[in-house]
Amino acid sequence: MSALREGSRVAVLGAGLAGLAAATQLKADGFDVTVFEARDRSGGRVWSETITAGHDRPCVIERGAEFVLHGYTTMRRLLDLTGLSLVDTGMSYYVRALADTPEISTQDVVEAGRAAATIARTYPSPPSAETVLQRLEGNDRLVDALRGRIEISTAVAADQVSADTLEHIASFEPRPSWRISGGNQELPRALAARLGTAVRYRESVHSVTDLGDEVLVETSTGSAVYDAVVAALPLSIVRDPSAIAISVPGWKKAALNRVLQGHAAKLHLPLKSVPKTSAVMSTNGRFWTWTALDNTGTVTPVLNSFMGSPGALDRAQGDGDFNAWITHARYIRPELDFSDSEAVTTVWRNDPLARGAYGAFAPGGGKQDSEELERPVGSIFFAGEYADPDFTGLMEGALRSGERAAARIRTAVRGPKAEAVSA
Ligand code: FAD
Repeated sequence: MSALREGSRVAVLGAGLAGLAAATQLKADGFDVTVFEARDRSGGRVWSETITAGHDRPCVIERGAEFVLHGYTTMRRLLDLTGLSLVDTGMSYYVRALADTPEISTQDVVEAGRAAATIARTYPSPPSAETVLQRLEGNDRLVDALRGRIEISTAVAADQVSADTLEHIASFEPRPSWRISGGNQELPRALAARLGTAVRYRESVHSVTDLGDEVLVETSTGSAVYDAVVAALPLSIVRDPSAIAISVPGWKKAALNRVLQGHAAKLHLPLKSVPKTSAVMSTNGRFWTWTALDNTGTVTPVLNSFMGSPGALDRAQGDGDFNAWITHARYIRPELDFSDSEAVTTVWRNDPLARGAYGAFAPGGGKQDSEELERPVGSIFFAGEYADPDFTGLMEGALRSGERAAARIRTAVRGPKAEAVSA
């Protein structure tokens, strides 16, 4: 039986967006919060760095999450809270020209994507994206372009992922897309700064044990008991007992194991001069490239690239250092003025504290999986991008999931009736 009450001690594991959203809300609700973060920085898979490109121009690159997309209401609220703002990238995440098949227009892909989403909606429960692709009318190259787009964005194979993704991460509506002014990591930095010394960096959590009315947390520097824990850790960490020992029952293990782990990498190639905004995809290479505006109001002289799906990464990493990807990206963007400065590659499956890019639901998965993924085990609560039903895999999903974990703890203390009254 949980001893949760007003002012209880809550440990939050992970200072990514999910953990920081949870901790921010818990602190506002009067809980005594401690955040454990194994890295020496906040943000997790939101990681902004400054490189030099053009004529000695400092350019912020996103080594992890880049685009703030349609419907990011929680993020917008937290940006207001922290005094941060968004900048329009001047291009659309959703719309990409096709480098390998110039005879297929962007509009052809948009229309095929919409047709695929319409077919997917005819199923009582979402089938695989590949099942929908097989039913699409159109030439094979167009269907493969769509398959490529789905596999890049979801970072898993089309025959494994739910067709529901066509509504979200692999949507084709030509909407604007944004970044946080100064870099996306400004948000986790600002949230962490508001939490002050409650965030403990370089402190890795090794085990979490439910003692009945308290939870024992053992870290790299010691151990302590808390009234509740929010595990806001990446999917591949939270479900791997060799990464962290968390005592969970079979239904929770099964729910965690049903989520697909996507794999993706990013590449940044400095340019000598300022290009136009652009978005160009290689279906064959399973990557896309873009140039975008930053907060100076001009285009950053950097070619950004994202490669998604395990098969693509295996093929590209064959030479050990992604030289084939660099060559291929340069080949499909002959109009750009590449500098001799070194390329920056970021491979998230090689990151021991992420072990992958983001989660995706398998066919038939979705809302009911999310419910089990977030359902607490005793006083251990769960949050992370992988658990959100609507923005799975995305920054917005991480933030929403973190806030939901905090709301569950608040409800556990005050009771659902009091919550309904205060709402
Ligand atoms: P994380 O950010 O991974 O936070 C978990 C934290 O837990 C990390 O800081 C980690 O260091 C810490 N941790 C791990 N193990 C331990 C331990 N044992 N003890 C203590 N701490 C630990 N989203 C978008 O919205 N738009 C995009 O364009 C976009 N592009 C992306 C591109 C790439 C290449 C990747 C990888 C992701 C992208 N995302 C994008 C997804 C986005 O980055 C994630 O959804 C979000 O950042 C996940 O937040 P989180 O808090 O759930 O996890």
